[in-house]
Amino acid sequence: MSDTYARSNLAAIDAAHHLHPFSDMGKLNADGTRIIQRGEGVYIWDSQGKRYLDGFAGLWCVNVGYGRKEIADAVARQMNELPYYNTFFGTTTTPATLLAEKVTSHAGPHFNHVFFTGSGSEANDTWFRMARVYWSAVGKPSKKIVIARKNGYHGSTVAGASLGGMKYMHEQGDLPIPGIEHIGQPYWYGEGGELSPAEFGVKVARELEAKIDELGEENVSAFVAEPIQGAAGVIIPPATYWPEIARICKSRNILLVCDEVICGFGRLGEWFGHQYYGVEPDFAPIAKGLSSGYLPIGGVLVSDRIAHVLINEVGDFNHGFTYSGHPVCAAAALENLRIIEDEKLVERVRDDIGPYFGKVWGALGEHDLVGEAVSVGLMGALQLTTDKASRTRFEKPDAVGALVRNNALANGLVLRATGDRMLASPPLVITREEVDEMARIVKIALGAAW
Ligand code: PLP
Repeated sequence: MSDTYARSNLAAIDAAHHLHPFSDMGKLNADGTRIIQRGEGVYIWDSQGKRYLDGFAGLWCVNVGYGRKEIADAVARQMNELPYYNTFFGTTTTPATLLAEKVTSHAGPHFNHVFFTGSGSEANDTWFRMARVYWSAVGKPSKKIVIARKNGYHGSTVAGASLGGMKYMHEQGDLPIPGIEHIGQPYWYGEGGELSPAEFGVKVARELEAKIDELGEENVSAFVAEPIQGAAGVIIPPATYWPEIARICKSRNILLVCDEVICGFGRLGEWFGHQYYGVEPDFAPIAKGLSSGYLPIGGVLVSDRIAHVLINEVGDFNHGFTYSGHPVCAAAALENLRIIEDEKLVERVRDDIGPYFGKVWGALGEHDLVGEAVSVGLMGALQLTTDKASRTRFEKPDAVGALVRNNALANGLVLRATGDRMLASPPLVITREEVDEMARIVKIALGAAW
């Protein structure tokens, strides 16, 4: 740790002054905050010198791993040359422009434009407004309502948290705002009942059609979903789900929005989740893996159909952020994407480490407490259960998940628990040995004599 920050009483300072996101502050202050001070590859170290394998890549974002000097150098170069200029009112900067070219080159061929933001939440707020502007411009101003999903996650701003379907977020601050409706999630394990996954996938997708009928097609702007729900517990939809969703959006003239904030930039073994599922969304919010979290930057990929109207018919789009396309963040993102390209990390996830992780992670499904062990690429979940055959859930899912998570942490592995689902999303540079180490610690955390 550099001398600049050498203070022995950080936990006390933190308790006195720092309000943390998504944290019970009373409990956090009593337990003491963990202070993370260093990272290298897939490992992080805390202020006690304890090493952890970060099976969660920070917050689903450190795709290229920690300690990439190339990114630090690119950031320093840009800082020295031009630390800030905006992209408003007819100006841009070199990194912002080059990043727009680079990021669109990897998305589906119908994506040739991007609008930059500072985060994934801002990205979701951005398309929400852009969709209304689009429908007004093409003479359908009544198309305003967005249909989203229960347990979806689209950020913490007022619009982002409203688009999201997290009840515990809606309960704080009187959300969702008007104009947002939620339908079911494709969570077969928990909600599929007697249906096969394929039948359930179609059934839950058709809730979209029923909702459009209820609201009136002329009032519906868009449907938004994560290709694979992340924060909800890595809910991997049955194979029948996305084709049916795409069919409905197209036939009912509803914009399709794939929130790629987690799935983008290689996590599923394709550059983007929409490519993995073979669908063509109209908007794709991005963030996280765009810069591997080295600096905050997000954006919205905008399809040619929408961009054409924005460019040729709307005139001023009165929206933007001081840090839209921030040159230093864009320089970090450009270098991050260069690393992903040069080290063929997307191909590595698709052809090598992703299948290996799938095999090792999938084998954890043999444990008595694990009802399903599923993954796509390097995004996986273990569903805990008291009885595999009947898919019975624990009475106190949050407590069980927290117990396993804390066991893993004590043994040097960071995992996330969403209720009784244990989530993994390691950096894309993880090696086979490190995947084995994850599985070994998970077994210990489950308390198994394997
Ligand atoms: N969308 C998805 C799918 C996310 O997982 C997240 C964050 O986890 C967001 C949006 C919000 O991104 P941010 O936290 O950068 O605002």
